[in-house]
Amino acid sequence: MNSFAYRRATSSAQALDEVKAPNASFLAGGTNLVDLMKYRVEQPTELVDINHLPLAQVTQTPDGGVSIGALVRNSDLANHELIRTNYPLLSQALLSGASPQLRNMATTGGNLLQRTRCYYFMDVSFAHCNKRQPGSGCDALQGYNRIHAIVGQTDKGPESGETCIATNPSDMNVAMAALEATVEVQSAQGKRSIPFAEFHRLPGSEPQLDTTLRPGELITAVTLPKPRFAKNAFYLKARDRNSYAFALVSVAAGLEMEGGTIRSAGIAMGGVAHKPWRVPEAEAALAGKPADAASFGRAAEVLLRGAHGYEYNQFKVELAKQTIVRALTLASQGTSEIA
Ligand SMILES: Cc1cc2nc3c(=O)[nH]c(=O)nc-3n(C[C@H](O)[C@H](O)[C@H](O)COP(=O)(O)OP(=O)(O)OC[C@H]3O[C@@H](n4cnc5c(N)ncnc54)[C@H](O)[C@@H]3O)c2cc1C
Ligand code: SF4
Repeated sequence: MNSFAYRRATSSAQALDEVKAPNASFLAGGTNLVDLMKYRVEQPTELVDINHLPLAQVTQTPDGGVSIGALVRNSDLANHELIRTNYPLLSQALLSGASPQLRNMATTGGNLLQRTRCYYFMDVSFAHCNKRQPGSGCDALQGYNRIHAIVGQTDKGPESGETCIATNPSDMNVAMAALEATVEVQSAQGKRSIPFAEFHRLPGSEPQLDTTLRPGELITAVTLPKPRFAKNAFYLKARDRNSYAFALVSVAAGLEMEGGTIRSAGIAMGGVAHKPWRVPEAEAALAGKPADAASFGRAAEVLLRGAHGYEYNQFKVELAKQTIVRALTLASQGTSEIA
């Protein structure tokens, strides 16, 4: 680990000022950043600890939605009465992630920004990783790419500076995408709101960038609109072990139902793309249709249009189809009890 200075901020203004130092990073729960520092993937020379900022509240908004402070811990959020009752999809997704100890430390803001688990990104002994070392190429393309992307990836060959087939590993982000969250941020220039669909990026020509957050911006909260999917929601995570494992493929499915007919839907996928994968046409294709296997199969086809895998992850295309249909089926049967 490199040596670094540590500063504790007690106000957003102080945090924004401290983070202007060259090569400074905010420190929230530290469960991702500190790991990456130990691996020498991230080497900040100054850590600005934001844990003492007043950003740990979950509050109702005047329009019937909810505002989640950036420092709300994942376990507190999953178990908050407002979230369990109105946004069970988010509770389910959070509780499927990591371990109880990690969820007790991990924060909403930090989870939004957790970095990919691509093995070649996490291990600096691999020389070619465009995300870690822009322009160096991509060792995953012809390597062991079992956990990698099947949609939205950039693959122009292992030596291209644009190639990246990494996935976003977060469970929380998948539910937030299906729920159409908004990310609230603050900088020295003022505040702005970023719709969730525009927050995470596809690799495009700049795979080193995971999000549209600008340098020095502080995430203050995530807001959710009025709940639509409290009664019919399901987060389904396909993984190698039953617990304490990242998703190979996950699906957040929310349905608004009128009898056996779907009024509207929210669907997003994890483990398949550089960002939570949401295709509004797939949701539109479900509106007004019966909640049956044929409708769900058609939505899966639209969500996975153009999907293709690599040597070790071809299986994900079929797994993704089946996970979408299963998650929608379970959602249509009613929200299950949250553990
Ligand atoms: C063994 C293990 C297993 C895991 N399994 C899962 C899993 O199954 N599913 C899952 O979703 N996650 C999993 N995780 C990841 C875990 O959820 C994340 O590490 C955690 O959510 C990150 O939050 P944090 O508060 O600790 O962030 P930190 O590590 O403190 O920060 C992460 C990044 O966010 C930045 N940051 C933090 N807060 C802000 C803010 N308010 N504004 C601007 N920038 C900010 C930091 O500067 C840093 O760059 C696992 C982690 C481990 C170690
Ligand atoms: S997939 Fe992306 S993160 Fe992984 S080695 Fe290639 S460029 Fe790096």
